[in-house]
Amino acid sequence: MKTLARALSGAALLFATTAVAQPTANQPPPSPAMPKSDSMLPAFKALYKELVETNTTASVGSCTLAAQKMAARMKAAGFPDSDLTVFIPQEYPKSGGLVAVYPGTDPKAKAVLLLAHVDVVEAKREDWTRDPFTLVEEGGYFYARGAFDDKAQASIFTDTLIRFKQAGYKPRRTIKLALTCGEEGGGPLNGASWLVKNKRELIDAAFALNEGAGGQLDDHGKRVAHTIEAGEKTSQSFVLEVTNPGGHSSRPLPDNAIYRLADAIEKVRRYEFPVMINDANKAYLVGMSKIEGGERGKAMAALAANPKDTAADKLLSQDPSLHTMLRTTCVATMLSGGHAQNALPQRANVTINCRIFPGVAREAVRDKLIEVIADPQVKVSQIASGREGEAPAPPLTPNVMGPIEKVSAEMWPGVPVIPILQAGATDGKALTAGGIPTYGVSGLFTGADLGNIHGLNEHMGVQALYEGREFLYRLVKVYADQP
Ligand SMILES: [Zn+2]
Repeated sequence: MKTLARALSGAALLFATTAVAQPTANQPPPSPAMPKSDSMLPAFKALYKELVETNTTASVGSCTLAAQKMAARMKAAGFPDSDLTVFIPQEYPKSGGLVAVYPGTDPKAKAVLLLAHVDVVEAKREDWTRDPFTLVEEGGYFYARGAFDDKAQASIFTDTLIRFKQAGYKPRRTIKLALTCGEEGGGPLNGASWLVKNKRELIDAAFALNEGAGGQLDDHGKRVAHTIEAGEKTSQSFVLEVTNPGGHSSRPLPDNAIYRLADAIEKVRRYEFPVMINDANKAYLVGMSKIEGGERGKAMAALAANPKDTAADKLLSQDPSLHTMLRTTCVATMLSGGHAQNALPQRANVTINCRIFPGVAREAVRDKLIEVIADPQVKVSQIASGREGEAPAPPLTPNVMGPIEKVSAEMWPGVPVIPILQAGATDGKALTAGGIPTYGVSGLFTGADLGNIHGLNEHMGVQALYEGREFLYRLVKVYADQP
């Protein structure tokens, strides 16, 4: 995950950060649906360990090596070479990935794509309690960089296809797996975007499953909700700039670049984009209204029914996580101006970072800023952005949601499935924009600290990992058998 959006809010799920970053939630009771014995578990553990211990940071690691290792395991499990494509983009020998194809029996049924990134955020040995590139199992947790983000899901997807192959499973739909590099940034290339641009046919699918959501535990280890990501906001920055002939500061003039810019910033600060409702945040509001109850619960139900309910919006938008899930937001993030302490400023600018609601064009947001600022001397320009976006959020159809709800109820009876709109970003956006609607679903339960991904001592509950593996295995099978 590139950026995090807290899916749930409320007192039970406060962010907790400590210097040592130990798990903050207790572990829940085991799922009643877990198999009593599982002869394939040691092989999964070995695969997970191998993937985690292959350094895939942008600085010194290699995603290509990780992809080759996973391809070798799949080949050993019976995948022919013709179904395994290790792709190495020209000029970026370490940014490679793997696409595996598991053919279905019905040529008319569209494929299901499983997407996971194998690159990880940098991790310095001296900062960590344990070696970040050695998988350590301790006190019910796996610790390592990538133990969760995103090598847990990458390992589960790879293992799932290996188990299918070894069982001789004949799915109706073709199942595809894409392990890619560059999701975390810092590297030269984003593998998911590269596939969309260069190997679109190879990854073509009716829809894709990806990271971006999971199960949420409260501090007592109770499973609060199982979240499903259905859409991501687009990040786009704009620069507001004012220029002025300047002069000597001993002789102030009424027109001043800094003051003019400050007025523009103040207008942006006061402007609130209107509430927008799509499948994801509507289902979130409806689902959470029942869980939260009270004033907030009532307001959630009211806003889902009527996006123009300003009283409900006002109450809910006091919560920053909800505020951002309901609309486009723009906020000042960087500021500079002036060239000497004794001179009137000749130039002043501010960077405004917007998180744009799915389906809204960047240009529409730029035009709104220009309208709100209403000052032709404030030049508004758009910073070039490498990431896709602007695609409408993928729809929450019964074909997609039905299997998730069914398998989730088998695994964790009574735990509500709650769709979310991701305010952060994953590779799902590249695929969705490329015509493959992508959903975040993992079945991996963590506390409010989200396993401290990107941070120190990243961890994943052992039981949570195995349950996520069981969940995704069953889920992929249901999708693969769909007509
Ligand atoms: Zn991440």
